[in-house]
Amino acid sequence: MKKITSIKTRITIWYTTLMFVLIVVVLSLVVGLSYQLSIDSVEKDVILQVTQVTEKLSKRQPGVFEIVESKEEFKNVSIYGTDGKYLVGQYHYDVETIPFRAGLPRKERIGGKDYIVYDTRTPGPRGAPGGFWIRGVESVSSTMLLGRSAIVIMLVFIPLVLLLAAFGGHYITKRAFHPVNNIIKTANEISSQKDISRRIEIAPDSKEDELHQLSVTLNRMLDKIEHLMRQEKQFTSDASHELRTPISVILAQGEYLLDLAEDEKEKELAQTIVEKAKQVSTLVSRLLLLARIDQHRQKFNKEKVDLGVLVDIAIDSMKDFASQKEILLFSTVEEGTIVDADEPLLLSAITNLISNGIKYGNESGHVTLSVSKLGEKTEIVVSDNGIGISKEHLGKIWTRFYRVDDVRNDVYGSNGLGLSMVKSIIELHGGSITVKSEVGKGTEFRILL
Ligand code: ADP
Repeated sequence: MKKITSIKTRITIWYTTLMFVLIVVVLSLVVGLSYQLSIDSVEKDVILQVTQVTEKLSKRQPGVFEIVESKEEFKNVSIYGTDGKYLVGQYHYDVETIPFRAGLPRKERIGGKDYIVYDTRTPGPRGAPGGFWIRGVESVSSTMLLGRSAIVIMLVFIPLVLLLAAFGGHYITKRAFHPVNNIIKTANEISSQKDISRRIEIAPDSKEDELHQLSVTLNRMLDKIEHLMRQEKQFTSDASHELRTPISVILAQGEYLLDLAEDEKEKELAQTIVEKAKQVSTLVSRLLLLARIDQHRQKFNKEKVDLGVLVDIAIDSMKDFASQKEILLFSTVEEGTIVDADEPLLLSAITNLISNGIKYGNESGHVTLSVSKLGEKTEIVVSDNGIGISKEHLGKIWTRFYRVDDVRNDVYGSNGLGLSMVKSIIELHGGSITVKSEVGKGTEFRILL
Protein backbone atom coordinates (compact mmCIF):
# COMPACT_ATOMS: atom_id res chain seq x y z
CA MET A 1 0.00 0.00 0.00
CA LYS A 2 1.23 3.49 -0.78
CA LYS A 3 2.44 5.31 2.32
CA ILE A 4 0.46 8.46 2.97
CA THR A 5 2.56 11.42 4.10
CA SER A 6 0.45 14.41 4.98
CA ILE A 7 1.12 17.74 3.28
CA LYS A 8 1.75 19.19 6.77
CA THR A 9 4.61 16.73 7.38
CA ARG A 10 6.03 17.23 3.90
CA ILE A 11 6.01 21.02 4.24
CA THR A 12 7.61 20.79 7.70
CA ILE A 13 10.34 18.40 6.46
CA TRP A 14 10.98 20.58 3.41
CA TYR A 15 11.49 23.91 5.14
CA THR A 16 13.34 22.41 8.12
CA THR A 17 15.82 20.80 5.71
CA LEU A 18 16.04 24.02 3.73
CA MET A 19 16.66 25.98 6.90
CA PHE A 20 19.35 23.54 8.02
CA VAL A 21 21.14 23.75 4.67
CA LEU A 22 20.83 27.54 4.69
CA ILE A 23 22.22 27.88 8.23
CA VAL A 24 25.13 25.54 7.48
CA VAL A 25 25.97 27.37 4.23
CA VAL A 26 25.76 30.83 5.82
CA LEU A 27 27.80 29.82 8.87
CA SER A 28 30.41 28.10 6.70
CA LEU A 29 30.71 31.26 4.63
CA VAL A 30 31.00 33.42 7.74
CA VAL A 31 33.62 31.12 9.28
CA GLY A 32 35.59 30.86 6.02
CA LEU A 33 35.46 34.61 5.45
CA SER A 34 36.43 35.50 9.00
CA TYR A 35 39.34 33.05 8.83
CA GLN A 36 40.57 34.62 5.61
CA LEU A 37 40.20 38.13 7.09
CA SER A 38 42.15 37.07 10.17
CA ILE A 39 44.99 35.71 8.06
CA ASP A 40 45.07 38.90 6.00
CA SER A 41 45.26 41.12 9.09
CA VAL A 42 47.94 38.90 10.73
CA GLU A 43 49.99 39.01 7.54
CA LYS A 44 49.76 42.81 7.38
CA ASP A 45 50.74 43.10 11.03
CA VAL A 46 53.74 40.78 10.69
CA ILE A 47 54.93 42.45 7.46
CA LEU A 48 54.70 45.89 9.10
CA GLN A 49 56.68 44.88 12.18
CA VAL A 50 59.36 43.00 10.20
CA THR A 51 59.72 45.76 7.58
CA GLN A 52 60.18 48.46 10.23
CA VAL A 53 62.86 46.45 12.06
CA THR A 54 64.58 45.58 8.75
CA GLU A 55 64.68 49.28 7.76
CA LYS A 56 66.15 50.26 11.10
CA LEU A 57 68.80 47.56 10.85
CA SER A 58 69.63 48.42 7.20
CA LYS A 59 70.11 52.07 8.16
CA ARG A 60 72.31 50.87 11.02
CA GLN A 61 70.22 52.84 13.50
CA PRO A 62 71.57 52.41 16.98
CA GLY A 63 69.52 50.66 19.67
CA VAL A 64 67.49 48.47 17.30
CA PHE A 65 68.08 45.37 19.46
CA GLU A 66 66.77 47.19 22.51
CA ILE A 67 63.67 48.38 20.68
CA VAL A 68 62.90 44.86 19.43
CA GLU A 69 63.50 43.53 22.90
CA SER A 70 61.22 45.98 24.69
CA LYS A 71 58.60 47.63 22.48
CA GLU A 72 55.11 46.16 22.31
CA GLU A 73 54.78 47.09 18.63
CA PHE A 74 57.58 44.66 17.75
CA LYS A 75 56.49 41.80 19.95
CA ASN A 76 56.21 39.38 17.00
CA VAL A 77 59.74 40.03 15.63
CA SER A 78 62.98 38.20 16.45
CA ILE A 79 66.44 38.81 15.04
CA TYR A 80 68.80 35.98 14.14
CA GLY A 81 72.32 35.83 12.84
CA THR A 82 72.91 34.65 9.29
CA ASP A 83 73.93 31.31 10.81
CA GLY A 84 70.39 31.05 12.26
CA LYS A 85 71.44 31.81 15.80
CA TYR A 86 68.82 33.59 17.87
CA LEU A 87 70.02 37.00 18.92
CA VAL A 88 67.11 39.02 20.22
CA GLY A 89 63.28 39.20 20.31
CA GLN A 90 60.50 39.40 22.87
CA TYR A 91 59.54 35.85 22.24
CA HIS A 92 61.82 33.06 21.40
CA TYR A 93 59.68 31.28 18.88
CA ASP A 94 60.13 27.62 18.57
CA VAL A 95 60.52 27.92 14.83
CA GLU A 96 64.22 27.42 14.27
CA THR A 97 63.43 24.14 12.60
CA ILE A 98 61.75 26.07 9.82
CA PRO A 99 64.44 27.22 7.43
CA PHE A 100 64.66 30.93 6.72
CA ARG A 101 63.16 31.89 3.38
CA ALA A 102 62.97 35.47 2.23
CA GLY A 103 59.90 36.27 0.19
CA LEU A 104 56.17 36.46 0.85
CA PRO A 105 54.59 35.68 4.22
CA ARG A 106 53.60 32.02 4.44
CA LYS A 107 51.48 29.79 6.60
CA GLU A 108 53.28 27.14 8.63
CA ARG A 109 51.81 24.49 10.87
CA ILE A 110 53.75 24.09 14.10
CA GLY A 111 52.58 21.84 16.95
CA GLY A 112 49.07 21.61 15.53
CA LYS A 113 48.71 25.37 15.26
CA ASP A 114 48.80 27.68 12.27
CA TYR A 115 51.33 30.51 12.17
CA ILE A 116 52.12 33.23 9.66
CA VAL A 117 55.89 33.38 9.16
CA TYR A 118 57.66 36.21 7.33
CA ASP A 119 61.42 36.35 6.88
CA THR A 120 63.70 39.12 5.54
CA ARG A 121 67.43 39.43 5.45
CA THR A 122 69.64 42.44 5.77
CA PRO A 123 72.97 42.42 3.93
CA GLY A 124 76.35 42.71 5.73
CA PRO A 125 78.16 46.09 5.83
CA ARG A 126 78.93 47.23 2.27
CA GLY A 127 78.08 43.90 0.71
CA ALA A 128 80.43 41.98 3.03
CA PRO A 129 79.19 38.70 4.54
CA GLY A 130 77.18 39.02 7.73
CA GLY A 131 73.87 40.74 8.26
CA PHE A 132 70.76 39.40 9.98
CA TRP A 133 67.70 37.30 9.47
CA ILE A 134 64.57 39.12 10.72
CA ARG A 135 61.67 36.79 11.35
CA GLY A 136 58.12 37.77 12.16
CA VAL A 137 55.81 35.06 13.53
CA GLU A 138 52.21 35.37 14.64
CA SER A 139 49.74 32.68 15.52
CA VAL A 140 46.55 32.53 13.49
CA SER A 141 44.60 30.42 15.99
CA SER A 142 44.31 33.30 18.46
CA THR A 143 42.35 35.20 15.82
CA MET A 144 40.01 32.24 15.20
CA LEU A 145 37.70 33.09 18.06
CA LEU A 146 34.81 33.91 15.75
CA GLY A 147 35.29 30.60 13.99
CA ARG A 148 35.14 28.67 17.24
CA SER A 149 32.06 30.39 18.53
CA ALA A 150 30.43 29.76 15.19
CA ILE A 151 31.07 26.04 15.63
CA VAL A 152 29.57 26.18 19.14
CA ILE A 153 26.54 27.94 17.70
CA MET A 154 26.29 25.30 15.01
CA LEU A 155 26.37 22.43 17.48
CA VAL A 156 24.12 23.87 20.19
CA PHE A 157 21.80 26.40 18.65
CA ILE A 158 21.10 24.90 15.24
CA PRO A 159 19.36 21.77 16.61
CA LEU A 160 17.40 24.03 18.98
CA VAL A 161 16.41 26.46 16.25
CA LEU A 162 15.50 23.58 13.93
CA LEU A 163 13.37 21.89 16.60
CA LEU A 164 11.58 25.15 17.27
CA ALA A 165 11.07 25.74 13.55
CA ALA A 166 9.78 22.20 13.00
CA PHE A 167 7.31 22.23 15.91
CA GLY A 168 6.19 25.82 15.34
CA GLY A 169 5.84 25.27 11.60
CA HIS A 170 3.95 22.01 12.03
CA TYR A 171 1.56 23.68 14.48
CA ILE A 172 0.93 26.61 12.13
CA THR A 173 0.39 24.41 9.05
CA LYS A 174 -1.86 22.11 11.08
CA ARG A 175 -4.03 25.10 11.99
CA ALA A 176 -3.92 26.42 8.45
CA PHE A 177 -4.99 23.02 7.09
CA HIS A 178 -7.87 22.67 9.54
CA PRO A 179 -10.44 23.63 6.85
CA VAL A 180 -9.06 20.85 4.62
CA ASN A 181 -9.80 18.32 7.38
CA ASN A 182 -13.33 19.68 7.56
CA ILE A 183 -13.69 19.29 3.80
CA ILE A 184 -12.45 15.68 3.96
CA LYS A 185 -14.76 14.94 6.92
CA THR A 186 -17.80 16.34 5.13
CA ALA A 187 -16.98 14.59 1.85
CA ASN A 188 -16.65 11.28 3.74
CA GLU A 189 -19.94 11.85 5.55
CA ILE A 190 -21.70 12.64 2.28
CA SER A 191 -20.34 9.53 0.53
CA SER A 192 -20.77 7.11 3.46
CA GLN A 193 -24.17 8.31 4.66
CA LYS A 194 -25.32 9.44 1.21
CA ASP A 195 -26.54 12.63 2.85
CA ILE A 196 -26.04 15.48 0.42
CA SER A 197 -27.54 17.95 2.91
CA ARG A 198 -24.26 18.02 4.90
CA ARG A 199 -22.10 21.14 4.63
CA ILE A 200 -18.49 21.99 5.43
CA GLU A 201 -18.21 23.63 8.85
CA ILE A 202 -16.80 27.16 8.60
CA ALA A 203 -15.81 28.75 11.89
CA PRO A 204 -17.21 32.32 12.17
CA ASP A 205 -13.78 33.67 13.14
CA SER A 206 -11.92 31.86 10.35
CA LYS A 207 -9.55 33.93 8.19
CA GLU A 208 -10.79 34.67 4.70
CA ASP A 209 -7.93 32.88 2.96
CA GLU A 210 -7.91 30.52 -0.04
CA LEU A 211 -9.06 27.52 2.04
CA HIS A 212 -11.96 29.56 3.44
CA GLN A 213 -12.89 30.47 -0.16
CA LEU A 214 -12.63 26.81 -1.17
CA SER A 215 -14.98 25.74 1.66
CA VAL A 216 -17.49 28.46 0.73
CA THR A 217 -17.33 27.50 -2.96
CA LEU A 218 -17.73 23.78 -2.21
CA ASN A 219 -20.71 24.50 0.05
CA ARG A 220 -22.28 26.56 -2.74
CA MET A 221 -21.63 23.71 -5.17
CA LEU A 222 -23.25 21.23 -2.74
CA ASP A 223 -26.31 23.54 -2.51
CA LYS A 224 -26.57 23.46 -6.28
CA ILE A 225 -26.13 19.66 -6.49
CA GLU A 226 -28.69 19.13 -3.73
CA HIS A 227 -31.14 21.40 -5.52
CA LEU A 228 -30.63 19.56 -8.83
CA MET A 229 -30.97 16.16 -7.16
CA ARG A 230 -34.17 17.28 -5.48
CA GLN A 231 -35.50 18.52 -8.82
CA GLU A 232 -34.54 15.23 -10.50
CA LYS A 233 -36.26 13.19 -7.77
CA GLN A 234 -39.30 15.42 -7.99
CA PHE A 235 -39.39 14.94 -11.76
CA THR A 236 -39.17 11.12 -11.43
CA SER A 237 -41.87 11.19 -8.80
CA ASP A 238 -44.16 13.49 -10.83
CA ALA A 239 -43.60 11.62 -14.09
CA SER A 240 -44.28 8.22 -12.49
CA HIS A 241 -47.34 9.62 -10.82
CA GLU A 242 -48.67 11.06 -14.08
CA LEU A 243 -48.00 7.77 -15.92
CA ARG A 244 -49.83 5.62 -13.42
CA THR A 245 -53.39 6.38 -14.52
CA PRO A 246 -52.88 6.07 -18.32
CA ILE A 247 -51.02 2.79 -17.82
CA SER A 248 -53.79 1.39 -15.63
CA VAL A 249 -56.24 2.36 -18.36
CA ILE A 250 -54.10 0.71 -21.08
CA LEU A 251 -53.80 -2.42 -18.95
CA ALA A 252 -57.54 -2.57 -18.28
CA GLN A 253 -58.36 -1.95 -21.95
CA GLY A 254 -55.83 -4.56 -23.02
CA GLU A 255 -57.35 -7.14 -20.72
CA TYR A 256 -60.77 -6.23 -22.06
CA LEU A 257 -59.49 -6.68 -25.63
CA LEU A 258 -58.03 -10.03 -24.65
CA ASP A 259 -61.43 -11.15 -23.47
CA LEU A 260 -63.01 -9.95 -26.71
CA ALA A 261 -60.35 -11.49 -28.98
CA GLU A 262 -61.94 -13.76 -31.55
CA ASP A 263 -58.96 -15.35 -33.21
CA GLU A 264 -55.36 -16.23 -32.35
CA LYS A 265 -53.93 -13.11 -34.04
CA GLU A 266 -56.15 -10.75 -32.02
CA LYS A 267 -55.38 -12.69 -28.87
CA GLU A 268 -51.64 -12.43 -29.49
CA LEU A 269 -51.86 -8.68 -30.08
CA ALA A 270 -53.96 -8.11 -26.97
CA GLN A 271 -51.61 -10.36 -24.96
CA THR A 272 -48.60 -8.23 -26.01
CA ILE A 273 -50.42 -5.06 -24.95
CA VAL A 274 -51.25 -6.55 -21.55
CA GLU A 275 -47.69 -7.84 -20.99
CA LYS A 276 -46.02 -4.57 -21.95
CA ALA A 277 -48.53 -2.56 -19.92
CA LYS A 278 -47.76 -4.77 -16.90
CA GLN A 279 -44.02 -4.22 -17.41
CA VAL A 280 -44.44 -0.46 -17.59
CA SER A 281 -46.77 -0.56 -14.61
CA THR A 282 -44.11 -2.44 -12.57
CA LEU A 283 -41.46 0.02 -13.73
CA VAL A 284 -43.59 3.02 -12.77
CA SER A 285 -44.48 1.67 -9.34
CA ARG A 286 -40.80 0.85 -8.64
CA LEU A 287 -39.74 4.34 -9.73
CA LEU A 288 -42.44 5.87 -7.58
CA LEU A 289 -41.42 3.81 -4.57
CA LEU A 290 -37.73 4.70 -5.02
CA ALA A 291 -38.57 8.40 -5.43
CA ARG A 292 -40.69 8.32 -2.25
CA ILE A 293 -37.92 6.59 -0.26
CA ASP A 294 -35.33 9.06 -1.62
CA GLN A 295 -37.51 12.01 -0.64
CA HIS A 296 -38.25 10.44 2.77
CA ARG A 297 -41.92 10.47 1.84
CA GLN A 298 -42.47 6.71 1.86
CA LYS A 299 -45.02 5.70 4.47
CA PHE A 300 -43.52 3.15 6.81
CA ASN A 301 -46.10 1.21 8.80
CA LYS A 302 -44.08 -0.63 11.36
CA GLU A 303 -45.75 -3.73 12.76
CA LYS A 304 -44.78 -7.09 14.22
CA VAL A 305 -44.30 -9.34 11.20
CA ASP A 306 -44.05 -13.13 11.53
CA LEU A 307 -41.43 -14.10 8.97
CA GLY A 308 -42.80 -17.67 8.81
CA VAL A 309 -46.08 -16.31 7.47
CA LEU A 310 -44.38 -13.75 5.21
CA VAL A 311 -42.10 -16.36 3.61
CA ASP A 312 -45.12 -18.65 2.97
CA ILE A 313 -46.98 -15.81 1.23
CA ALA A 314 -43.88 -14.95 -0.86
CA ILE A 315 -43.34 -18.57 -1.93
CA ASP A 316 -47.00 -19.00 -2.71
CA SER A 317 -47.05 -15.98 -4.97
CA MET A 318 -44.00 -17.24 -6.89
CA LYS A 319 -45.08 -20.89 -7.23
CA ASP A 320 -46.58 -20.57 -10.71
CA PHE A 321 -43.62 -18.62 -12.03
CA ALA A 322 -41.21 -21.21 -10.61
CA SER A 323 -43.12 -24.14 -12.09
CA GLN A 324 -42.67 -22.65 -15.59
CA LYS A 325 -38.98 -23.52 -15.26
CA GLU A 326 -39.55 -26.50 -12.99
CA ILE A 327 -37.68 -24.72 -10.26
CA LEU A 328 -38.31 -25.92 -6.71
CA LEU A 329 -38.80 -23.43 -3.89
CA PHE A 330 -37.61 -24.42 -0.39
CA SER A 331 -37.82 -22.59 2.88
CA THR A 332 -36.58 -23.08 6.45
CA VAL A 333 -37.73 -20.58 9.02
CA GLU A 334 -36.65 -20.59 12.64
CA GLU A 335 -39.72 -20.82 14.88
CA GLY A 336 -41.16 -17.52 16.12
CA THR A 337 -39.00 -15.18 14.08
CA ILE A 338 -40.81 -11.89 14.42
CA VAL A 339 -39.45 -8.59 13.16
CA ASP A 340 -40.59 -4.97 13.26
CA ALA A 341 -41.25 -4.19 9.63
CA ASP A 342 -43.58 -2.76 7.03
CA GLU A 343 -45.13 -6.00 5.81
CA PRO A 344 -45.99 -5.10 2.18
CA LEU A 345 -42.60 -3.52 1.63
CA LEU A 346 -40.62 -6.42 3.13
CA LEU A 347 -42.78 -8.89 1.21
CA SER A 348 -42.07 -7.13 -2.08
CA ALA A 349 -38.31 -7.16 -1.33
CA ILE A 350 -38.28 -10.91 -0.59
CA THR A 351 -40.56 -11.72 -3.54
CA ASN A 352 -38.20 -9.79 -5.76
CA LEU A 353 -35.22 -11.84 -4.65
CA ILE A 354 -37.13 -15.10 -5.20
CA SER A 355 -38.28 -13.84 -8.61
CA ASN A 356 -34.63 -13.09 -9.56
CA GLY A 357 -33.62 -16.56 -8.34
CA ILE A 358 -36.17 -18.03 -10.74
CA LYS A 359 -35.41 -15.62 -13.63
CA TYR A 360 -31.69 -16.28 -13.46
CA GLY A 361 -32.00 -19.89 -12.30
CA ASN A 362 -31.44 -22.98 -14.44
CA GLU A 363 -34.34 -25.23 -15.50
CA SER A 364 -35.11 -27.78 -12.73
CA GLY A 365 -32.99 -25.80 -10.29
CA HIS A 366 -33.97 -24.57 -6.88
CA VAL A 367 -34.33 -21.39 -4.83
CA THR A 368 -33.95 -21.64 -1.06
CA LEU A 369 -35.10 -19.24 1.63
CA SER A 370 -33.81 -19.51 5.15
CA VAL A 371 -34.66 -17.33 8.12
CA SER A 372 -32.74 -17.50 11.36
CA LYS A 373 -32.07 -15.43 14.46
CA LEU A 374 -28.58 -14.03 14.92
CA GLY A 375 -28.54 -12.63 18.45
CA GLU A 376 -30.59 -9.44 18.38
CA LYS A 377 -30.76 -9.57 14.62
CA THR A 378 -32.57 -11.66 12.04
CA GLU A 379 -30.98 -13.07 8.93
CA ILE A 380 -32.85 -13.85 5.74
CA VAL A 381 -30.89 -15.71 3.06
CA VAL A 382 -32.22 -16.20 -0.48
CA SER A 383 -30.02 -18.46 -2.57
CA ASP A 384 -30.23 -20.20 -5.92
CA ASN A 385 -28.13 -22.56 -8.02
CA GLY A 386 -28.57 -20.47 -11.15
CA ILE A 387 -26.23 -18.77 -13.60
CA GLY A 388 -24.51 -16.56 -11.04
CA ILE A 389 -23.01 -13.11 -11.50
CA SER A 390 -19.40 -12.43 -12.49
CA LYS A 391 -17.14 -10.34 -10.22
CA GLU A 392 -17.03 -7.59 -12.83
CA HIS A 393 -20.80 -7.02 -12.50
CA LEU A 394 -21.31 -7.90 -8.84
CA GLY A 395 -20.50 -4.41 -7.52
CA LYS A 396 -22.83 -2.72 -9.98
CA ILE A 397 -26.06 -4.73 -9.61
CA TRP A 398 -27.41 -2.28 -7.00
CA THR A 399 -27.17 0.61 -9.45
CA ARG A 400 -30.51 1.77 -10.84
CA PHE A 401 -31.28 0.43 -14.33
CA TYR A 402 -28.16 -1.76 -14.31
CA ARG A 403 -28.67 -5.06 -16.07
CA VAL A 404 -25.96 -7.64 -16.59
CA ASP A 405 -27.24 -8.89 -19.91
CA ASP A 406 -29.79 -6.72 -21.75
CA VAL A 407 -30.79 -9.33 -24.36
CA ARG A 408 -31.30 -12.19 -21.91
CA ASN A 409 -33.21 -10.03 -19.44
CA ASP A 410 -35.61 -8.76 -22.09
CA VAL A 411 -37.37 -12.13 -22.01
CA TYR A 412 -38.69 -11.21 -18.55
CA GLY A 413 -39.19 -7.53 -19.20
CA SER A 414 -36.50 -6.73 -16.64
CA ASN A 415 -35.75 -3.11 -15.94
CA GLY A 416 -32.72 -3.21 -13.64
CA LEU A 417 -34.62 -1.54 -10.81
CA GLY A 418 -35.46 -4.64 -8.75
CA LEU A 419 -32.31 -4.88 -6.64
CA SER A 420 -32.03 -1.09 -6.07
CA MET A 421 -35.60 -1.22 -4.78
CA VAL A 422 -34.80 -4.21 -2.53
CA LYS A 423 -31.75 -2.40 -1.14
CA SER A 424 -33.70 0.82 -0.49
CA ILE A 425 -36.46 -1.14 1.30
CA ILE A 426 -33.98 -3.02 3.49
CA GLU A 427 -32.10 0.19 4.34
CA LEU A 428 -35.41 1.89 5.13
CA HIS A 429 -35.82 -0.87 7.74
CA GLY A 430 -32.37 -0.04 9.13
CA GLY A 431 -31.00 -3.32 7.76
CA SER A 432 -28.33 -4.28 5.26
CA ILE A 433 -28.08 -6.59 2.26
CA THR A 434 -25.04 -8.28 0.78
CA VAL A 435 -24.48 -10.61 -2.14
CA LYS A 436 -22.17 -13.51 -2.93
CA SER A 437 -22.12 -15.16 -6.30
CA GLU A 438 -20.16 -17.48 -8.52
CA VAL A 439 -20.72 -17.83 -12.23
CA GLY A 440 -22.31 -21.21 -13.05
CA LYS A 441 -22.84 -22.08 -9.39
CA GLY A 442 -25.42 -19.66 -8.07
CA THR A 443 -26.12 -16.53 -6.07
CA GLU A 444 -26.84 -15.82 -2.43
CA PHE A 445 -28.44 -12.66 -1.05
CA ARG A 446 -28.11 -12.14 2.72
CA ILE A 447 -30.36 -9.67 4.53
CA LEU A 448 -29.65 -8.61 8.11
CA LEU A 449 -32.49 -6.94 9.93
P1 ADP B 1 -33.77 -6.92 -13.24
O1 ADP B 1 -35.09 -6.27 -13.24
O2 ADP B 1 -32.98 -6.75 -14.51
O3 ADP B 1 -33.81 -8.31 -12.75
P2 ADP B 1 -32.39 -6.37 -10.83
O4 ADP B 1 -32.01 -5.05 -10.24
O5 ADP B 1 -33.30 -7.24 -10.06
O6 ADP B 1 -32.95 -6.03 -12.23
O7 ADP B 1 -31.07 -7.16 -11.10
C1 ADP B 1 -29.96 -6.52 -11.72
C2 ADP B 1 -29.11 -7.53 -12.45
O8 ADP B 1 -28.55 -8.44 -11.52
C3 ADP B 1 -29.93 -8.40 -13.37
O9 ADP B 1 -29.91 -7.87 -14.67
C4 ADP B 1 -29.26 -9.74 -13.32
O10 ADP B 1 -28.37 -9.89 -14.38
C5 ADP B 1 -28.50 -9.75 -12.03
N1 ADP B 1 -29.11 -10.64 -11.03
C6 ADP B 1 -29.98 -10.29 -10.05
N2 ADP B 1 -30.33 -11.38 -9.31
C7 ADP B 1 -29.66 -12.41 -9.82
C8 ADP B 1 -29.59 -13.83 -9.51
N3 ADP B 1 -30.26 -14.34 -8.50
N4 ADP B 1 -28.78 -14.59 -10.26
C9 ADP B 1 -28.07 -14.08 -11.28
N5 ADP B 1 -28.09 -12.78 -11.65
C10 ADP B 1 -28.88 -11.96 -10.92
